[in-house]
Amino acid sequence: MTHRERELPFLNWKNFLTGNIMVTGVMEVLENIRKMNPGRKIKIMNFCGTHEHEISRHGIRSVLPEWIELIAGPGCPVCVCGEGEIRAAIELASRGINVLTYGDMMRVPIRMNGNVTSLEKARATGAKVRVVTSPLDALSIATKSNEDFVFFSVGFETTTAPLAGLLERGVPDNLKILTAHKLTPPALDLLIKDEDVMLDGILAPGHVSTITGSMEWRRFAEEYGIPTVIAGFTPGQILEAIYRLVLQIKNGEAKLENVYRGIVTEHGNIRAKMLMEKHLYIDKAWWRGIGEIEKSGFYLKSRDIDAVHFYGLEVKNEENDMLPGCSCKDVVLGKKLPKDCPLFGKACTPDDPKGPCMVSSEGACSAWFHYLREDI
Ligand code: SF4
Repeated sequence: MTHRERELPFLNWKNFLTGNIMVTGVMEVLENIRKMNPGRKIKIMNFCGTHEHEISRHGIRSVLPEWIELIAGPGCPVCVCGEGEIRAAIELASRGINVLTYGDMMRVPIRMNGNVTSLEKARATGAKVRVVTSPLDALSIATKSNEDFVFFSVGFETTTAPLAGLLERGVPDNLKILTAHKLTPPALDLLIKDEDVMLDGILAPGHVSTITGSMEWRRFAEEYGIPTVIAGFTPGQILEAIYRLVLQIKNGEAKLENVYRGIVTEHGNIRAKMLMEKHLYIDKAWWRGIGEIEKSGFYLKSRDIDAVHFYGLEVKNEENDMLPGCSCKDVVLGKKLPKDCPLFGKACTPDDPKGPCMVSSEGACSAWFHYLREDI
């Protein structure tokens, strides 16, 4: 199998299941996109890390006309989690408190006390860190033990909803929560105002929209005049969304469309949003590589279960929070592609990540390393 065939597995597919419709003939979709050449380069941001992963995995960039530039955005919560929150988790684990967190967080490299470390490295030196797969997993572990636990919970709206479900259920006295949850739309507001980015279209996130509802993204079309389409994660969904974005651009329109029909509704998951509002409040948050963004973080309303308050932690983030040579800051802002980082695939690999974008499968550098390395 040639490199190109490996990049284009979907070209052999006859049918695409796209949410709730079956699209036949992906070649026709591609042909229709190609025919709409607007006579200039257009820049589309796929905000979501899972979109970037699937775009890379299926070689979608390589079959699009050269006048479409698809750039990745900051839609990887692991990539934008502040060093300060991870340092706080390591400090807790080093004090002998059991820290429970998602597997993706384990290998994120951060600076601490003059060294480069991670939760995984801290565990290797005796810190108490364990991987969990969900808030209920954390609850189950804590409930069966007399030891003290902190659930280090990280993510966007999609994982904030299960955390809110846990809070509604109630947590035992020996379980506290350290949160690094973020809202996605404020980051997009920031990017749209960045003159170095200048987006023509937005491929809006499917997972997040199942919680927020499509209405969260309407203002990007109506207020900023940027065509916006919500899509799921099959190649057919992604190509259909790109087709609709290009069509809008060609017709001089800017509206919100949703091709993840049947999954994403206008108002999203009402129950989840109600629980999130009941147990969490929204305030400014630090996005690694980007900085502080107003109204972009979820925080616990109950101080009794807040690990920062309970253990008297200081969560401190500061500018220049990437390791030397790492271009993640520009990657998450859509200003650089992973391959443009001098460390990509050389000093920085998934086995030895030098930046957060190489750790999670939702990180752009990780996706490019696995599917778009030129030496594959
Ligand atoms: Fe950072 Fe590694 Fe990506 Fe370069 S390749 S931007 S060092 S994560």
